[in-house]
Amino acid sequence: MSTILDGKAVARAVRAEAARAVEALRARGVVPGLATVLVGDDPASRVYVGSKERACTEVGIQSIGQRLPDGTRTADLAARVRELNARADVHGILVQLPLPDAIDTDAVIQAIAPEKDVDGLTATSQGRLLAGLPGLRPCTPLGIMRLVRETGVDLAGVHAVVIGRSRLVGKPVALMLLEQHATVTLCHSRTRDLAATVRTADVVVAAVGRPEMIRGAWIKEGAIVIDVGINRLAGSGLVGDVEFAAARERAAWITPVPGGVGPMTVAMLLANTADAAATREAA
Ligand code: NDP
Repeated sequence: MSTILDGKAVARAVRAEAARAVEALRARGVVPGLATVLVGDDPASRVYVGSKERACTEVGIQSIGQRLPDGTRTADLAARVRELNARADVHGILVQLPLPDAIDTDAVIQAIAPEKDVDGLTATSQGRLLAGLPGLRPCTPLGIMRLVRETGVDLAGVHAVVIGRSRLVGKPVALMLLEQHATVTLCHSRTRDLAATVRTADVVVAAVGRPEMIRGAWIKEGAIVIDVGINRLAGSGLVGDVEFAAARERAAWITPVPGGVGPMTVAMLLANTADAAATREAA
């Protein structure tokens, strides 16, 4: 039976650290500010942005809400982002994804100044991660790494298997695991015999978006299992990408869904915003 990696508890600790960092900045006259850009009125996006804004307020970060109507053009949205790049009271810029279909998401993301890219999604931030240079890292992968750190396991030489290769989660977390000297296998929809690969994993990171696709029987005894997936099932609420009940019989540590990676993502956004403000103050 495994130990549950309690994302809510670890996220509370990260938020407390962020609050202390913000307090130290405020004592020096710097009020960290996060601009949250929301286009249109998708209900799920509104909920996500609302929870990020509340979390900011709780740790003393000023939240600067930017609401634009559905039908906003790419050029206008990019221009708004550039205005935020130029504002001294804005230390971080978050563009809530997904954007409406008519908008060129990449053009908008790339308009964010790298030093304000608290989601770590610009080509500069991602290139810096690839190059092993300091920079802002994406929040969900940072949260995953923090949860793995909680186990106290040294990643040097362990086999880490990441399932999913998105820019948001899979690719960056694979690079971060590599940075910690894990031997990393990055799986995706064309991977042959996923089960056999997962069976050899000391660390499994599942970021696919398919309910309970990673079967408990595939999990190696004593593995660390991080389940990033959030799948809404009619009737049974939220489930992850891992077959939790069976996997927890074999894993040494496992994250629940909900209450695992989810709370870490917002906590890391706060940490990144405090870091961005501290870096600018030090410059
Ligand atoms: P994407 O849809 O961008 O990527 C999914 C990845 O899974 C792709 O690389 C895809 O492969 C791979 N995949 C799909 N089917 C299979 C398969 N049968 N076998 C192996 N790999 C497969 O998703 P995201 O990375 O954005 O998100 C993944 C999950 O994590 C979602 O459930 C999302 O809701 C959740 N999430 C949770 C967050 C949190 O805070 N907890 C934050 C972000 C995401 P290919 O590239 O070949 O198509």
